[in-house]
Order: sequence, then structure tokens, then C-alpha cells
Amino acid sequence: MYAQLARKALGLTWPIVLPLAAAGVLLHWGGVPAGGLSTVLPRLALALAIALAWRFNRSRIVFAAVSVWAGGEAVLALPPGTARAAVTVCLPLTLLVFALVQERGLTTPIGWARWAFVGVQVLGVLSLRQAENAALGRWLGEPLFALPWFLHPGLAKPGILAFLLVLFVLGWRMATSRSAIDTGLFGALVGGAFVLHTPGGEAERLVYLGAVGVILLITMVEASYTLAYRDELTGLPGRRALNETLQQLGGTYTLAMADVDHFKKFNDSYGHDAGDQCLRYVAAHLAAVGGGGRAFRYGGEEFTILFPGKTVDEALEHLEALRAGIADAKFAIRAQGRPKKRPEKPKKPGPIKSVSVTVSLGACERDPDSDDLRDAHAVMEKADKRLYKSKKDGRNRVTAKGC
Ligand code: GH3
Ligand code: MG
Ligand code: MG
Repeated sequence: MYAQLARKALGLTWPIVLPLAAAGVLLHWGGVPAGGLSTVLPRLALALAIALAWRFNRSRIVFAAVSVWAGGEAVLALPPGTARAAVTVCLPLTLLVFALVQERGLTTPIGWARWAFVGVQVLGVLSLRQAENAALGRWLGEPLFALPWFLHPGLAKPGILAFLLVLFVLGWRMATSRSAIDTGLFGALVGGAFVLHTPGGEAERLVYLGAVGVILLITMVEASYTLAYRDELTGLPGRRALNETLQQLGGTYTLAMADVDHFKKFNDSYGHDAGDQCLRYVAAHLAAVGGGGRAFRYGGEEFTILFPGKTVDEALEHLEALRAGIADAKFAIRAQGRPKKRPEKPKKPGPIKSVSVTVSLGACERDPDSDDLRDAHAVMEKADKRLYKSKKDGRNRVTAKGC
């Protein structure tokens, strides 16, 4: 259980852990590189991340990279004091804002407002540098309140408090949304904290700044991969991922096709949004199928489940459990059909209704020794035929033999 949790956590956070660990190894064992390339490379990594994010319209990553970069340059250039302490408060809060807002472009009116938001902070920090403010300096530099004896008093400083608050919010978002962009924003925060708070000097800050650049570059690659291979609605891998998996799969495997029963009627009765909700609900069941099965969204309300290395007899009990699990559980929707005409006044959401859905399945095993069922396409066709037999026989069932 703990091993599974650790594997999941690492699967989610590797784009952050890897560059920061590499930075740590470099600093600890490789010594701190001095001058020359070591000042250029980190900035180059950030510039590349910004260029890629700009190219692919990921404005929030652009703003995150620019903010960490500006914050990093500020602590590199500024002596300890009010202005530097202000950066430690501004950066986490800026990243929080960019995590909570939606994509709205970089050169749209909202985009310009966001540039102004970053620019005002830069000007604010610069003005603090020119006119040190004693009261503000004290407020930013000292703990805000007393903490229990076992906690370090420095944790109550505004910069650290802001970081911890935002760490919690962005961490929560990353774990629940599982989107590459949220992981990147969390990584910018954690990497940015290393840049701002490392006890080391300029060289250390630069290495961590480079790590943030690499984190955001990985974010862009991951986001593009997700776009190509994951289905946006259900989060399951899509048809392209299925095709590539099948190409690489040899030997014996079982492939099952699943189709939601009477889904058109479901859409007509409860509306398209409830239909989407239903697909997500079915997909969540499919993703948790036992026996090493891997679920894909084939298209529309059709899904594919692959059991690598399993015969159809071995996969059958898991498919049966899956079918029964979906049929027995109920899920809540807002019972309100899609209005034909746009209402004058927005309608109140309808009452929550508990509904159930069923799926029909057809399964087929690949037989490497047979001429008919060696090819993945033929296996899928046979599984499809059996699915339609399940439909004909009354739905909510699995067919794994015959046809
Ligand atoms: P059967 O039991 O024979 O499978 O009947 P059915 O109504 O499920 O089959 P049919 O193929 O006629 O209907 C599929 C419907 O799925 C039609 C289409 O509007 C709907 N659909 C496909 N993709 C989506 C989607 O992403 N969201 C929603 N809400 N509906 C979808
Ligand atoms: Mg269908
Ligand atoms: Mg259907």
C-alpha cells in the first residue's frame, strides 16, 4: 500500500524531483560551477521554457517562468533587506494567482492586465530598494507571531508563511487535477523557494533557477504528450495510445470492448452535461478494473480494456466484476434536461437525482498461433461482434465466447 502510494507520488512529481535532485547532486558533489556558462545556462533554460510555452499558448506557464526569473534576478541583485524580503512574499502569491486563473492568452486585454500585475510588483520591489522602509522592513523580516517551541520561529515570517500557504493550495490542485500544468506551477513554486531561500550564494541560486527552467521545459513536453495521448473528458488514454500499445504488444492478451447502454436516451433525458458526467463515472470504474487491465477511451461512449498476458478466461472474472460494479452503483446528477430554448431567467439547478447505468461488453483473446486472431485489428473486430451480441441478448452483460 505504501509502496503503491510512493510510486503514485513519484509518478506525479518526477518532473519536479528530478531537476531539483540533479541540482542538489551538482552542488553537493560537483562543486559550485563558477562564471561563464553557469550564468548563461539557467537563463537559457528559462528562456526556452518561455518560448515553448508561448508557442503553445500556455500563458500561465509563461507568467510563472517570468515571475520566478524576475524573483531570482531580484534576489541575485539585491542585498538582504526590505526589497528582497518583499520578493519572498510576492513570488508565492503571484504563482497562486496564476494557478487559480484560467488561460486567457498573453496579448489579449486580460493578458495585458496580467503583464501589468507582474510589472507593478517589479516596480514595487525596485522602489523599495531605493527607499528602504523601516516599518515594512521590520514586518517582512520578523516572525509575525510566536510559534510553539518545537517549530522554528523563522517559519512565521511572512515570506515563509506565504510559501507554505501556497504550497498547500498548489499541492492540493496538483494531486487532484493531475494536469501537467498544475504540476509545473507547483514545481515553479518549490524550485522558486530554493532560489529565494537557499543559504548558499549566487552560484547556488543560479543552479536552482536553471532547475526551474528544466521543470517548466518538462512541463511543456508533458502537456503536449497529454494533449496527444489522453482523452480530455475522462482522463483515460485515448485511441492513439491504444493503437501504439497494441503495436508493441505480442503474445497472448485479451481485449474487451465496452459500450454504455442506451446512452442516447440518457443524454436526451438528463442533458449532455449529465451525459459527460456519466462517461466520467464509467471511466473511473474502468480505470480501476482488476487483473492488470488497462482502460482506454475508444471514442464516444465506447471504451477498450486490455489485459496483457491474460487469456479470456482469466480476464472474464474481472470484466464481470466491472460490469456488476457499474450496474450496482448509483451516481448523482442534477436532473435537468437541456432546455430547447435559452430561458429568459437562468433556471435554478434541479434536484439531485440518483441514477444507474449499465454497460455491455464483448471480449476476445489474441491467439498468436491462429491465422484469424493474430492481428490486433481482427481481435478488436471479434470483441466488437461479441459486444453487439451482448446488446442483442439484452445488454448489461459480458460475451466472451462465440460469434
Ligand atoms: P446502445 O445501448 O445500443 O449502445 O444505445 P446507445 O443509445 O448507447 O447508442 P448510440 O450509439 O445510438 O448512442 C451513442 C450516443 O452517445 C450518441 C452520442 O450523442 C453520445 N455521445 C458520444 N460521445 C459523447 C460525449 O462525449 N458526451 C456525451 N454527453 N454524449 C456523447
Ligand atoms: Mg455506441
Ligand atoms: Mg451505447
